[in-house]
Amino acid sequence: MEITTAAKNRFTLSLSHWHQNYNVRNLPWKGEKDPYKIWLSEIILQQTRAAQGLPYYLAFTHAFPTVAHLAVADDADVFRLWQGLGYYNRCKNMLATARIITSAHHGVFPNTYIQLLALKGIGPYTAAAIASFAFNQPVAVVDGNVYRVLSRCFGIDSPIDSTSGKKLFAELAQQLLPPDNSAAHNQAIMDLGATVCTPALPKCDSCPLSKLCVATKSDLIRQLPIKSKKIIVKERFFNYIIFQHNNNTWITQRQAGDIWENLHEPYLIETKQPTEAIALYKDNLPLNAHPNSLKLISKSKQKLTHQVINTCFYTLVINDLSQFNMPNGWWVNNSELKKLAFPKTLVSFFKNNLYF
Ligand code: SF4
Repeated sequence: MEITTAAKNRFTLSLSHWHQNYNVRNLPWKGEKDPYKIWLSEIILQQTRAAQGLPYYLAFTHAFPTVAHLAVADDADVFRLWQGLGYYNRCKNMLATARIITSAHHGVFPNTYIQLLALKGIGPYTAAAIASFAFNQPVAVVDGNVYRVLSRCFGIDSPIDSTSGKKLFAELAQQLLPPDNSAAHNQAIMDLGATVCTPALPKCDSCPLSKLCVATKSDLIRQLPIKSKKIIVKERFFNYIIFQHNNNTWITQRQAGDIWENLHEPYLIETKQPTEAIALYKDNLPLNAHPNSLKLISKSKQKLTHQVINTCFYTLVINDLSQFNMPNGWWVNNSELKKLAFPKTLVSFFKNNLYF
């Protein structure tokens, strides 16, 4: 579909007018010029709603006011602060990038899109956000909000998760960008997507693009944007055995190659289906204890993007340590557990069961 230059100009002007006069979205990183803080906010907000990310942004900027502070921080302290945000690879890459910027770039953020893109954990969206917000580079940001606004406004039905669709939207976003006002334009389109052209129930009556919008005229709002791939969700069954000995808990650290890398957890038995305590005991516990001593305390279900984690929490009191020779772990006093970084589901369990 051909989009005329006149339509593109109207889009950009209408958006700019709305941003200057009606955009009331207020977030602490808006208007920020420090590339470090912009980068932090963008990494925190990937896969995370602004309201949920806000306290993390404030905590990180308070604990680590500059990239140099973050670069020299203990991994454990950074992971503990990240606790609850999920997608821990973001945190791992963030630390790696902070250290590269300090060592290879003398603590100064690169100021071009291409150089930013070369850093770990920085993809096209984040590189464009830093380049435009911090350095006024004329690079268009394209996130979920932008895809939604553009596909609806111009009636584009190319899948936003296809290679050709991504290229088409990126080119269009770039054509709409006023080169001398990229930061404000990028902020405006993202804010419009977040507050007006929302996924469900967009506020078309108060939208500055309503006169242009193909989706409203053709009743396509619910169909657009289009995604071609369905996310396949895998169901997993975690059984945590929380060994207790004299007010201590047996803790291990998760390894690379799976969710929650580097975070801590009690002894885990993963099964292919829901499994009764007696079967867990017989098949998976290399321990000489009475099966009845395994006590189910609670259950939880956590939905991640590609996985659903069904968790059962058991406790097992260990009286005689001579019978206990589990590998790869150590005893942690229950009062010290809060100093370790755990996945969200375990933090909730410990809080609800008075360990924290
Ligand atoms: S008119 Fe409605 S559907 Fe179209 S861009 Fe505005 S909010 Fe979105």
